[in-house]
Amino acid sequence: MNRELYGKLVFELSRPGRRGYRLPQSHISSDLVDGKGERACEIPNGLLRSQPLSLPECDELTVVRHYNNMSTNNFGVDTGFYPLGSCTMKYNPKINEEVAGHRGFASAHPSTPVYASQGRLRLYRTLERALSEIGGMAEFTLNPFAGAHGELTGLMVIRAYHDSRGDARRRKVIVPDSAHGTNPASAAVAGLEVVEVKSLPDGTVDLEALRPLLDDTVAAMMMTNPNTLGIFEHGIPEIARMVHEAGALMYYDGANLNPMLGVARPGDMGFDVMHINLHKTFSTPHGGGGPGSGPVGVRAGLERFLPSPRVVECPDGTLTLEYSPEALGSISATLGNFAVQARALAYILSLGSEGLMEAGSLATLNANYVKEALKDDYLLPIEGLCKHEFVFDGLADKSTGVTTLHVAKRLLDHGYHAPTIYFPLLFHESLMIEPTETESKETLDEFIAVMRDIACEARETPEVVLSAPHNTPITHPDDTEAALNPRVTFDMC
Ligand SMILES: *Cc1c(COP(=O)(O)O)cnc(C)c1O
Repeated sequence: MNRELYGKLVFELSRPGRRGYRLPQSHISSDLVDGKGERACEIPNGLLRSQPLSLPECDELTVVRHYNNMSTNNFGVDTGFYPLGSCTMKYNPKINEEVAGHRGFASAHPSTPVYASQGRLRLYRTLERALSEIGGMAEFTLNPFAGAHGELTGLMVIRAYHDSRGDARRRKVIVPDSAHGTNPASAAVAGLEVVEVKSLPDGTVDLEALRPLLDDTVAAMMMTNPNTLGIFEHGIPEIARMVHEAGALMYYDGANLNPMLGVARPGDMGFDVMHINLHKTFSTPHGGGGPGSGPVGVRAGLERFLPSPRVVECPDGTLTLEYSPEALGSISATLGNFAVQARALAYILSLGSEGLMEAGSLATLNANYVKEALKDDYLLPIEGLCKHEFVFDGLADKSTGVTTLHVAKRLLDHGYHAPTIYFPLLFHESLMIEPTETESKETLDEFIAVMRDIACEARETPEVVLSAPHNTPITHPDDTEAALNPRVTFDMC
C-alpha cells in the first residue's frame, strides 16, 4: 500500500490548478430569457457565493489511486476471520445477494400500489411465516429496521397489551446484568423503567434475586438465550412461570439466534414477544451501521398490537395491507428493509430446516472447539459447554502486564479482526469470541495458533504485544479523545 496516499483525504492531495477533467462548455447560454423577459439563468446576487467552492484539485491518476487504496483498506468477513462476539459476523452466501438484487425487487418503488407489489408482499408474508415457525410465535412483523428498533417495537406491544387491560401501572422491565446494552436503552426509550437482576457465578440469571423484584408494577422480563456469555439459561421454564404468575410478559432478545435454529423455539420456552436480527442470524453482511432488520414476533393473542401496516391474505388469495385501529401505528415508513428480508428468505429456503439445524450445531461446535483449545492460555471464568460464543477474562497469566486490549491489537498484526473486548461488563478483561458456523477447521486452527503465540509472546517478549499493532496503517488512535471530541469535519484552511 502506498503510505503517501493512504490516510490522506482527497482534499489533502489537492494542489492549486491541478486538473483531471474539464466540464464541456454548457450549451445553455446565459442570455436565454424566460416568458417574462427575465434572464432565466441569472441567480440572484444574494444567493451567489462570495468565494469559489473549495473542491479538491487533483489529477485523474491521484484520484484513481486514492479511491482504489481506500477500497482495499476495508476489513470484512469477505477478507478475513472476524470473531466479533455478540455480533455474528458470519459469511453471507453470494446467492442471497443475487436474489436481493433481482431487477424486479431492486427497481420497485416503495409507493408501488399493492396490486402491482404482489410478489414483494408474497416474499414478506412467506418470510414472516418462516420466522413464526422458527421462533414458535403466532405472527411476525418485519417492519423494524434493526435489533434495537425491534426491541422498542416489542416493548411497545407489551405496553399496549397492559394498557388494553387497564393495567397501566406496569412500567418496569427486568433486565439481567449480562444483557446487551440495547435492552435497557430500548426500555428507557419505550418510557419504561429498567430494573437490573444479577447473574449467578455460572453466568445465568439468579432466580432468588429475581423473585423479590416481581410484582404488579412489572411489565416484562427481557432475556437473551443463550445469554450474552454464550450460556444456555436452563432456568427459563421456571423464570417464565414466575414472570407470568406476576402478570408480566416474557421478552426474548433473539439477535443471535444461530445456535437455537431448529433446536429450541422461544415460543415453546414461554416467551410472549421476541425479535430476531436478520442481519446477524440470517445472512446480511453488517457492520458500519447498517442495513439491518429486526422482525418482531408475538404469541397468539398479541397479534392485534403489532405495528401497521400488516401484510394479510385476502379471501381470493391476493395479499393486501391492513391498518388496524388497535395496532401501534407505523414504526417505519416502509415494510422494513426489503433487501435484508430477501436475503433472509433466500438463506432459509436454500438451507431448509435440516440445513438451518446444522448451522446452529456447527456454530456451537466451532465455539467450543476454540474455547477448549485456548483455555490453558486464556482465563475461562465460566467452565462448561458454551453455545455460539464464549468469554475469556484476559490472559491466564496476569503477571505480564498484557491486557485484553493489547491482545486484540496484536491480532490485527496477524490479519484478524479483533474479538469483542471489555464486554460484557461482568469481567474486567472480557474477550468475547464468536467464530460462527461458516469458518473451516483450518481457519480456526490458524486462529488458535496465533492466539497461543500471543500468549507466549506476552510471557517472553511482552513489549512486542504491548506496542502492537506494528503493521496497520493507523496504530494507536486515542480512543478516549475520539469518543469525547470527535473530529468529523475537515478544516480546509
Ligand atoms: C446486536 C444485538 C442487539 C442490537 O441489534 P442492532 O441491530 O445492532 O440494533 C440486541 N441484542 C443483542 C444480544 C445483540 O447481539
